[in-house]
Amino acid sequence: MLVSAKEMLLKAKEGKYAVGQFNINNLEWTKAILNTAQACQSPVILGVSEGAAKYMTGYGTVVGMVNGMLKSLNITVPVALHLDHGEYTGALACIEAGFSSVMFDGSHYPIDENIEKTKEIIRKAAEKGVSVEAEVGAIGGEEDGVVGGGEKADPAECAKIAALGIDMLAAGIGNIHGTYPPNWPGLDFDVLAKVQEVSGGIPLVLHGGTGIPAEMIQKAISLGVSKINVNTECQLAFAAATRKYIEAGLDLKGKGYDPRKLLKPGYEAMMDTVKEKMELFGSVGKA
Ligand SMILES: [Zn+2]
Repeated sequence: MLVSAKEMLLKAKEGKYAVGQFNINNLEWTKAILNTAQACQSPVILGVSEGAAKYMTGYGTVVGMVNGMLKSLNITVPVALHLDHGEYTGALACIEAGFSSVMFDGSHYPIDENIEKTKEIIRKAAEKGVSVEAEVGAIGGEEDGVVGGGEKADPAECAKIAALGIDMLAAGIGNIHGTYPPNWPGLDFDVLAKVQEVSGGIPLVLHGGTGIPAEMIQKAISLGVSKINVNTECQLAFAAATRKYIEAGLDLKGKGYDPRKLLKPGYEAMMDTVKEKMELFGSVGKA
């Protein structure tokens, strides 16, 4: 059964480790992440962007697939199904569809509008025991056409949003989506420390986890980060393994073109990546 992300993240914060959010795109990705979490005895958060949900034909399909797999794979570790960077209507739709957690990304609204909309999402989510993540200070990256340090959150705005009763807060601290440019100045730990101070002890979320050096990850966890989002790294691992298979001509040998064979190397590479991240975040054995 899916659980909200609230309890697993409070436990992580107390235990000084982080739970990984791994984004899913299809059946193979979901299976790889769930099987790895179970093997590692780690709690896990399955992230679904609005675009990925659309690709999978809708929120209902995602909920059905994940719930089916929890049963058929005998998954007993805590699993949350979480909308990643949801718009207002998307977040409400996911709460209705059976997601156990949602992110409402109102960072592009003026702060007062972000607050009003976040409040409404919290109210609807509370009725169903769904956890809520909010964001302050837009996290940059290739997706937004922004290349550079990434925006820094205003701690005063973080304090306002955190006080609304959200379960986790994403604050921009120089992190960005996608791969980091070589001249990236790194995470701003002064901002992170201030955000942690004013956010009333709620778990903090680090987006753009791909390519952040291990020691920065550890330091971020020590400053209250309890959820780390990983997406690009799984995509790169999946693509590289698939490329290797095809370049070796294996799809042309026997029935190597069978999608179950064709997608297997990518599936296995993802499992390795997810395991590495769980080890780095310290969530192995914490289920
Ligand atoms: Zn993000």
